[in-house]
Amino acid sequence: RTNPSAKTESALSPYACQRRTTMDNHNKIFTDALEVLAENLEFGGNQGPSLAFRRAASVLKSLPAALKHLQETQHLPCLGEHSRAVIEEIIEYGSSSRVEEILNDERYRTMKLFSSVFGVGPKTSESWFCRGLRSFEQVLNEPSVRLNRMQTAGFLFYEDISKPVSRTEASALKIIVEEAVISVNPSATVSITGGFRRGKEFGHDVDFIIKTPEAGQEDAILTAVIERFKSQNILLYSDFQESTFDLRQLPTHCFEAMDHYSKCFLIIKLKREQETDARAGRDWRAVRVDLVAPPLERFAYALLGWTGSTLFERDLRRFARLERGKLLDNHTLYDKATNTFLPANTEEDIFAHLGLEYIEPWQRNA
Ligand code: ATP
Ligand code: MN
Ligand code: MN
Repeated sequence: RTNPSAKTESALSPYACQRRTTMDNHNKIFTDALEVLAENLEFGGNQGPSLAFRRAASVLKSLPAALKHLQETQHLPCLGEHSRAVIEEIIEYGSSSRVEEILNDERYRTMKLFSSVFGVGPKTSESWFCRGLRSFEQVLNEPSVRLNRMQTAGFLFYEDISKPVSRTEASALKIIVEEAVISVNPSATVSITGGFRRGKEFGHDVDFIIKTPEAGQEDAILTAVIERFKSQNILLYSDFQESTFDLRQLPTHCFEAMDHYSKCFLIIKLKREQETDARAGRDWRAVRVDLVAPPLERFAYALLGWTGSTLFERDLRRFARLERGKLLDNHTLYDKATNTFLPANTEEDIFAHLGLEYIEPWQRNA
């Protein structure tokens, strides 16, 4: 028996930026499986096929309830034959044989292990795997392996930074970052962005965006904050990337994945509140922190870009290009029809420029 009201329900958009995806995922059993398939393809350099599984998982994350029957997927966008087969198998048997196979696969497991190290991407992981390396011990004892500064820090603090950061720890870090930023420039402000802004309870790092009213102070403020952390003896690692942002170069040098803002990737000592690590004899844990400082008039674009999720960002750009003839990135929105840049003071302005309903940060967990 069909439900007549179902027909009048508006269809789900194939664009993540037209769906509201909160943290409560009713289809985790399916999305976890699809994401393993996606990750395995990424490890093999197959970005295209991987994206199909990522999109399928993302559509399921936006559903208001758990899937019970394969038929319910009939009118859902972005679900290909493969994704449907995986869903069907999980509905019927509780798991997918292909996913189980991948989870037990030596290559997948090794790639997953290696790429969990800060500074180690799929290319490095792959090259270590191909050299027959399977464990951290083997990597660290292999004479032909040369670790860069980031990877060295990644191994040194692995135990701490592979542990998820809690929302409480993120709030404690915000106070530290705020104190440092304000001591350098009392008119600057700090906001949390990334996963915590989307309402996640845990993160792999904590992302902060700094707003400075004075133009051209973005590099100076970050270097001063880093110096302050150093003098407080809480800086364990720092990779500062000065601004390469130049409005005159736009749009030729933009619409890339990485942005040109002044930013730094840090590892910071965070004091533990209660239990002290007796074994290590220390009262702190290491945490990964990202800071970005865009020019004031770019703030809305930077905030939107750094809030994520990655798939939400990807679909915003794709929607802008394919449906609106506009180019969006972390710096600007460019209208190809009029050859103009569209200014924005808030994220709401950007959604409005794109003719999109505003999606709150906690609804961007696509
Ligand atoms: P997690 O909890 O795992 O940290 P997250 O969503 O916060 O999840 P991040 O990797 O911290 O993930 O990235 C947050 C956002 O910042 C993403 O949308 C990503 O596109 C953006 N981002 C990260 N690094 C850069 C960079 N170097 N340049 C531009 N944008 C970046
Ligand atoms: Mn993050
Ligand atoms: Mn980050």
